[in-house]
Amino acid sequence: MAIHLWGGIETMPEVSIFKQNLSDLLGGKSAKGLEKSFGFVTAGDLLQHFPRRYAERGELTSFEKIEVGKPVTIMATVSSVTSRRMQNKRGWILVVTVTDGRDSMQLTFFNQKWREKELQIGRSGLFAGTVTDYRGTRTLTHPQYLLFADGSDSDMEALNQFAGSIIPVYPSSQSITSWQIASSVDVVLASTSDLVDPIPESVREEFELMDWTQALHAIHQPQSHSDLEAARFRIKFHEAFVLQALLEERRRARRGIKAIARQTKNHGRRSQFDAMLPFVLTDGQIRVGQEIAADLNSESPMMRLLQGDVGSGKTIVALRAMLDVIEAGGQCALLAPTEVLASQHFDSVMKLLRDMASDGSLLTSMNNSADGVHVTLLTGSLPSAARKKALLDIASGTAGIVIGTHALIQDSVEFFDLGLVVIDEQHRFGVEQRAVLMNKGRGDTKPHVLVMTATPIPRTVALTTFGDLDVSTLDESPSMRAGVETHVVNAMTVPNHLERVWERMSEEVKAGNKVFIVCPSISEQMNADDIDSDHAGAPITANQKLRSVDETVEELASRFPDIYFGALHGQMKPELKHDVMYRFTEDAANPVDVLVATTVIEVGVDVPAATMMIIQNAERFGISQLHQLRGRIGRGDRPGLCILVQNNFGNEGSTDRLEAIRSTTNGFELAQRDLEIRREGDVLGQDQSGLSSSLRLLRVVEDSELIELARDQVTSIAESSTWDAVLAAIDATDFERVTHLEKT
Ligand code: ADP
Ligand code: MG
Repeated sequence: MAIHLWGGIETMPEVSIFKQNLSDLLGGKSAKGLEKSFGFVTAGDLLQHFPRRYAERGELTSFEKIEVGKPVTIMATVSSVTSRRMQNKRGWILVVTVTDGRDSMQLTFFNQKWREKELQIGRSGLFAGTVTDYRGTRTLTHPQYLLFADGSDSDMEALNQFAGSIIPVYPSSQSITSWQIASSVDVVLASTSDLVDPIPESVREEFELMDWTQALHAIHQPQSHSDLEAARFRIKFHEAFVLQALLEERRRARRGIKAIARQTKNHGRRSQFDAMLPFVLTDGQIRVGQEIAADLNSESPMMRLLQGDVGSGKTIVALRAMLDVIEAGGQCALLAPTEVLASQHFDSVMKLLRDMASDGSLLTSMNNSADGVHVTLLTGSLPSAARKKALLDIASGTAGIVIGTHALIQDSVEFFDLGLVVIDEQHRFGVEQRAVLMNKGRGDTKPHVLVMTATPIPRTVALTTFGDLDVSTLDESPSMRAGVETHVVNAMTVPNHLERVWERMSEEVKAGNKVFIVCPSISEQMNADDIDSDHAGAPITANQKLRSVDETVEELASRFPDIYFGALHGQMKPELKHDVMYRFTEDAANPVDVLVATTVIEVGVDVPAATMMIIQNAERFGISQLHQLRGRIGRGDRPGLCILVQNNFGNEGSTDRLEAIRSTTNGFELAQRDLEIRREGDVLGQDQSGLSSSLRLLRVVEDSELIELARDQVTSIAESSTWDAVLAAIDATDFERVTHLEKT
């Protein structure tokens, strides 16, 4: 609050209603209640608490879908009232039956006989409480209620804000009813006029949008259905517009950050490497390579998301970029989410470079020739001497490529000149972790960053949540040409099919192929304690027995004595993990034929000889996880066979998921199906920008066209003189989003 000392008159700068405290507007009691229940502090918080649905006066709420245990707000009519003395205690019990016109529910009051006077047959109103089941009847005990005025009695409290026929129903809490919220909103709306509007007038005219003030009034207190529709559209547009504007700002801010341009060469190491590859690069790999090279040559840091389905060959793309950067004098870091994946990356990078250059010109990890690439592995489990050596090589610049896990992020890791950071399976890392690595650039500069994901993100989700990243897409999977066939086998209903699966496994092994068996848990237990921490599937209900790695190995090893089984899970020592992976992957003297593992193998693991995968308790896994797992097979020239073993009798969600997986191997299609099956909130659960948590009405899948539209508008306005006014208006009315932006 600014006080001007000179004129003697105290003038206050106008504070947007959005930023005013609810306690000043509503008084302490209501404000405290809203803060306690919802965390609302300012008028803006409350104004953006939109009704969940609307009830129409005269139209009762259908009871059909009302569930026991859930808090509800219903509109109903009293159909009977009885009161009697309680049997075992003193006092009265009042039972009121209310109806939706078809079904009925019961309201119970103890020792409140006086309510008979209010709750008369034929009266309608709103009733709120948590539904319980009392001897088969859905019951609200001591519900809060608000009766509509029926014209006969004058003392009834009829709320002014329900003068219209459309009644808002708000997400409410135990202690605050929907209509109490409505009445607070009414008070705040009374002081809400002439808000500055972030959407410029020209855009409002073009798309026939209500202004911001009108829209807020209409969403809370619609006068008609068309009024409500218009308000909803305006607010969705608003959310899309503001989100895109903030992302645009973020992009602009980034322009101020400098990176060191890494001049790429057309006839350097990268082309040498290409020439020696045992396959030709796909068009997509070449195109994305060019996009990355262009970024590397620039003085603003690359921020690129590379999405490509499993097997699309992202690693090669990353490695080619690394060779460019190394040749230009920089170092590269490759961050992987698990130790297994980090050491697999290490092995395959070494192998690729070694096979390529028998003269050692590309690789020097073994022979440190001045010309070659030095590859260093840094994980948490490295013995301290090896770790010391690795840190030294990183700090001195000897290490050209550093591959590691979270251990790379620690303070003690100092690079001589970090030029490129590649983050594999980026959904496993948070924004903060990304930020830490970005601060390891030389001097004030930031390294270029490439994040890779195998979970394809539909375009609008990418626009919304990763709006500030450039996106490259690999849409072919060259290594998966052989294809994978998928079957669902229900172990509960048709156990003999499962027998057939084990026989098939043994046939595969006899044919010289490798087999994965995936289990959701590590050892036999009746609960979720030993679920591998990498398991991100549905929550485990107590006492549900899940197939485990230990149990599976034990059972199958005794049945198939000629087959070598290996176990792999997150709680094993790194040396053991590496050993079993090695024996499964390479032509080892004592090979593992069947790898029984938890989802640690979900990401990135590359075993071309693997042709079959059996996923036990497949109903426990999500679509993208199953897709990732299945992507581990059919990578060589032999077709893959994936068996989803369902160990329940099937419920809607799991059956839909398994059917989706069975019917297609296209990652983009599956991502879309996944979005449809999952709820919106789950989709955005992966959002790393934090921005979309402030979306109220906008749905990133449904409203994709609107999002694109808003983005186009923002892009053209950002170049015009109105841009600053837009930002100022957002700051005045949408500071919650601005705060989110600052946090990231
Ligand atoms: P992902 O995108 O799932 O990380 P990878 O980079 O691990 O895929 O590649 C999967 C397999 O495909 C590897 O064995 C790799 O050598 C191979 N590969 C990559 N590019 C090509 C290509 N253009 N043609 C054939 N095989 C390829
Ligand atoms: Mg990969």
